[in-house]
Amino acid sequence: MIKNISKLNIVRIGSDITYSSLKKIGSGILESFCGLIKEVDFSHHDSPVVESIDAQLLTMILDEEYAGHTLGITDADLKTEDDDEFYNSILGGKNPKNDVAVVSTNKLTPQNLNTDRKYGLFIDRTLKVSLHEVGHNFGLTDHASYRPARNGLLCPMSRGEFNKFGYRGYVKVIIDGRGKNFCDECIHFLKSVYGHRRPSKHFLKDALVPSAH
Ligand SMILES: [Zn+2]
Ligand SMILES: [Zn+2]
Repeated sequence: MIKNISKLNIVRIGSDITYSSLKKIGSGILESFCGLIKEVDFSHHDSPVVESIDAQLLTMILDEEYAGHTLGITDADLKTEDDDEFYNSILGGKNPKNDVAVVSTNKLTPQNLNTDRKYGLFIDRTLKVSLHEVGHNFGLTDHASYRPARNGLLCPMSRGEFNKFGYRGYVKVIIDGRGKNFCDECIHFLKSVYGHRRPSKHFLKDALVPSAH
């Protein structure tokens, strides 16, 4: 479980996404994880221009370099070792062995990005996939069913089925269908696990002491 939860490192890998877009994503994350994440820190990770990156390897590199609660955003395709071709390229992932989640914008880009509306959609999608992966960092799990939050939109942890839609369809139905508010069950989980935390110096210090197991 994450030791220092109140700060999130957002790391850009590659350079397609602008700094101001990253800031929008950062403030969206702060809003959705209101009270839990209190600070976001932005960094740029230099990497050679590549078409695809091994997702697992990337989380390990970021963990070594940044440590702690981290979200990497890249425009390269994220690959996994899954034999099924459909699953070996992912929108986002989280390494359960550390507190690093990664998101690929590669399949989130609308067909042409030349209008403000399309660019807004692109940022929105990246934020929604980021919320899902950061949610995993906090211990939230996928909803296989389409679970609405109170505002009627899908909870960011809704996963649905890839195979049913194909990538483009999946992005339109599931990612675009997600809102930015978590459902009651997710909120209950976050409250019961982290709700008692108070942002006092003493408590944060204690929270940083590595657990014995
Ligand atoms: Zn998930
Ligand atoms: Zn939920």
